[in-house]
Amino acid sequence: MTVSRKMSGYLNRASWIRKMFEQGAALKSIHGSEHVFDFSLGNPDIPPPEEVLDAMSSLGRTMHHGYMPNAGYPDVRKNVASHASKLYGVDFSPKNIIMSCGAGGGLNVVLKAIIDPGDEVIVLSPYFVEYGFYVENHGGVLVDAPCDDTFLPSGETIARAITERTRAIILNTPNNPSGRVYHGGVLEEISHVLRRHPEILVISDEPYRSIVYDGVEVPSIPAIFPNSVVVTSASKELSLAGERIGYIALSPRGPHRELLVDAMILATRILGFVNAPALMQQVFSRCLSCGVDVSIYQRRRDLFTSILDEAGLGYAKPEGTFYLFARSPIEDDIAFCSALANERILAVPGKGFGRGGYVRFAYCVDESVISGAAQGLKKVAAELS
Ligand code: PLP
Repeated sequence: MTVSRKMSGYLNRASWIRKMFEQGAALKSIHGSEHVFDFSLGNPDIPPPEEVLDAMSSLGRTMHHGYMPNAGYPDVRKNVASHASKLYGVDFSPKNIIMSCGAGGGLNVVLKAIIDPGDEVIVLSPYFVEYGFYVENHGGVLVDAPCDDTFLPSGETIARAITERTRAIILNTPNNPSGRVYHGGVLEEISHVLRRHPEILVISDEPYRSIVYDGVEVPSIPAIFPNSVVVTSASKELSLAGERIGYIALSPRGPHRELLVDAMILATRILGFVNAPALMQQVFSRCLSCGVDVSIYQRRRDLFTSILDEAGLGYAKPEGTFYLFARSPIEDDIAFCSALANERILAVPGKGFGRGGYVRFAYCVDESVISGAAQGLKKVAAELS
């Protein structure tokens, strides 16, 4: 018994990630995890809001835990539709809301619903590393329309990436790994290009929407793009990454809405999710307006950027998320990560996000971990510069 050729190829492609985790685990076993400065994972460390914890403990005993319609509980979809309508300034009907197993589950449901083998999906590097796998899960092909050096996309680059096979474009703002927020001007430029291609679905992957700093506003994608779908989750905004809850909100203004919703509901079922977790649907539905204390992340961003400044490492200042995408002092970002690991600092090479020459630091860790890494960061930067 062996694994498929496809999975074997994936394992090779992802081997540097595995190597990094193995290296991290080895360092922790030698030095103790408190002496390793681990910025490798986007796993929120702030506890979920009290309202969420209260709802989790009170609902568990009183609710029914069986199957429900594949799209989710009707009352939950109604609450989400009303919340999303206010948030995005677009009227979402409950029938256009599908509860999902996180944003990752939601993205796979949307992609399964729209992709035939060979169809293309545009992504804007640097992008979330899993997009490649998600698109290929359904026989699709990833096409990169790279962002500029400040990690903002351009209409012109996207126009060049469009072909007859383009089915969708994934936007992710606030962005993992850059922390950038695509402002209205950039989105208008993209919208101008897509007006000539109304069949291309804009998939807005936005699990970090409320994690923004300095009062930055995140424009409403459904208000700008008629043919769009929002995919989001409680993973980051409510620190519930392990609970696998999120939703898909299909804009009412695009073509073939009913067919698309039916396809997504069927995809939820046949991908084996069946439905989003029952308890978490009910909890999420009661806590849609809650959020973690974003000022904690903002303080960490300020601390981290001041350390990078002292180390002389370049970066685009994150406006949101809890990631920093810093320029590697040498071209080989994997070698830079190895040098950092020698100082017990774990980061992810930019190569994995489709942008070599950079590394990603996830600062969803205590401030003491960030300040603890300062000396090692400065040492490596000085040695390699
Ligand atoms: N999209 C982006 C940009 C992410 O960074 C992540 C997780 O890190 C996901 C999707 C998946 O999130 P979820 O845990 O909700 O599946």
